[in-house]
Amino acid sequence: MNVAARTTALDTTGLDLETCSKGLFIGGEWLEGHGAYRIPVVDPSTEAILTHVANADLDDAAAAVDAAAKAAPGWAATAPRKRSEILRRCFELMTERSEALALLISLENGKALRDARGEVAYAAEFFRWNAEEAVRIAGDFGRAPAGANHIVVEYQPIGICVLITPWNFPAAMATRKIAPALAAGCTVVLKPATETPLTAYALAALYKEAGVPDGVVNVITTSTPGPVTSAMLADPRVRKLSFTGSTGVGRTLLAEAAKTVLSCSMELGGNAPLIVFDDADLETAIEGAMVAKMRNAGEACTAANRIYVQSGIYDSFVAALTKRMEALAIGAGSDPATECGPMITAKAVIKIDELVRDAVDRGAKALCGGAKPAGTGFYYPPTVLIDVPADAEMTHEEIFGPVAPITKFHTEDEVIAKANNTEYGLAAYVFTKDIGRGLKVSRRIEAGMVALNRGLVSDPAAPFGGMKQSGLGREGGQHGVLEFTEPQYIAVTL
Ligand code: NAD
Repeated sequence: MNVAARTTALDTTGLDLETCSKGLFIGGEWLEGHGAYRIPVVDPSTEAILTHVANADLDDAAAAVDAAAKAAPGWAATAPRKRSEILRRCFELMTERSEALALLISLENGKALRDARGEVAYAAEFFRWNAEEAVRIAGDFGRAPAGANHIVVEYQPIGICVLITPWNFPAAMATRKIAPALAAGCTVVLKPATETPLTAYALAALYKEAGVPDGVVNVITTSTPGPVTSAMLADPRVRKLSFTGSTGVGRTLLAEAAKTVLSCSMELGGNAPLIVFDDADLETAIEGAMVAKMRNAGEACTAANRIYVQSGIYDSFVAALTKRMEALAIGAGSDPATECGPMITAKAVIKIDELVRDAVDRGAKALCGGAKPAGTGFYYPPTVLIDVPADAEMTHEEIFGPVAPITKFHTEDEVIAKANNTEYGLAAYVFTKDIGRGLKVSRRIEAGMVALNRGLVSDPAAPFGGMKQSGLGREGGQHGVLEFTEPQYIAVTL
C-alpha cells in the first residue's frame, strides 16, 4: 500500500489525519500554538510525511497547566462513580474504534497492524481497569495505639500531573497514566513523543466525546521537550511527574524534579534476560521467545535483550528460533500480512546496525539477517546472533530492534549472575518445566517483572515497573492509581 492508499484506508475508518493534527489540545479546544514551525510526522514504512502537528512553546505549556489547574477542583470533587462511568465510556469508545486507532498507530509508528491491534486492546483495558479502581480507592480508620484518638487516612488526588510518553506504544503508554490519574481525581498535561503525536491527539478527541470535562486532559506536542518540560515542572501547581522513556532522559528529569521536590514515577529502559533451561518445553520456549523478542519488532522496553540457553537444549533452540525469525514477513506496518514492520527512524536503524557490527567484530556469528537493507523505509531484518561475548555492547544496552543475541550457559548460578549483571531491572523471562525451580530462579533475578514459561508479561491488572535503574513506582494493578494520590492522615479526637 502506498501512503495515499494507506491514509485513505484511515479515512474509511472514520478517523482522518486532519482530526489528529488540528492543534494543541488545551482546555478542551484545539489551539494553533505560538510557534510558526510545525512538527512533521513521518511514516516509517515509506519515509513520507503524513502531516504536521503544532509546536508548543513555553506560553503554550503555561496555558496547558492553567487549563489543568482550572479543571482540577471540579474533577477532584466529581463523585468517584461518575469518574468511573466516564472512564468506562473511554474504554468502550476505544474498543468500538479499535480498527481505526490501530491503523493510525501503525501509520505513525510503523508497527505491524497485528501489534497495533494488540496495543489498542491493551491501552483500552487501562480505562476499564481504572474505571473499576476509581470507586475502590480505600482509606483507613483505626484507633491510635495510645487509645486517645483515632487515625483517619484518606487518599487524596495528588494534583496536576505532567505525563511524558515515548513513541513505542503511542496509545498504551498514555492511557496507562491518564486512566489512573483521572480515576484518582487528578487533571493532566500529556506530552507525547514528537515521532508519534497523532494517536495522542485522536485519543484526546475521544476522551472529550466520552465526557471527560474540558481541561481535565490536555495534550501538547513540542520540538523542544527539555525547556517546555522544565517550565511545567517548575510551576508550583504541578505536583506529579510520570515519565516513560529512556533511563538517560529519566535521570535528567529526576534532577529537574528535585528542584520542586516533585513526586516522580519513572518507567525507564530495560535489558531483559530470557533464560531457557534444559528441561524447558522447546515449543513453549520458542513461542515465548518470539513474543518476548519480536512483539513490536523488538521496540519494547520489556523485549528480550539477551537470550541465555542451557547447553543441553542449545542447538535445538538456536535452530528452531532461527527458522522462525527467517520466516517472518517484513513489510509496511499497515499491511495486514506484515509480521515485522520498520523501526521508528533512520537513526534507530543505524544504532541497531552498529550494535550488530560491534557484536560480530567481537566474535558473534549471524545465522540470519545482520545487515541493514537498502531501499525506502526504516527497515532492519530479523537477526539471530550466536556466541555473543559478554563484552559486546548489546549485552549492556537496549537493542530496541529485531535482533536476538543467544549465549550458551551451563549452570543456574552462572546464568543468574549473568542475568543480574546490568544496571537495568525491568523484565525477565524464564523457561523450565520445573515450576519450583522457575519460582526460585525468578526470585533471584533482579527484575520488577518475571514471566515464567510465557513471552508476555504486561497486564493492566498487574503492577508494571522496574527495579534498579529501570524505574521508580509501578503502573497498573492496585498500585497504579495510588501513584496519583497523596495519603493524608487526620488525627481525630472523637
Ligand atoms: P526518550 O527518553 O528519548 O523519550 C521519551 C519521552 O521523553 C518523549 O516524549 C521525548 O520527547 C521526551 N524527552 C526527550 N528528552 C527530554 C527532555 N530533555 N526533557 C523532557 N522530555 C524529554 O525515549 P524514547 O526513545 O521515546 O523511547 C524509548 C525508551 O523508552 C527506551 O529506553 C524504552 O525502554 C523506554 N520505555 C520504557 C517503558 C517502561 O514502561 N519502562 C515503556 C516503553 C518505553
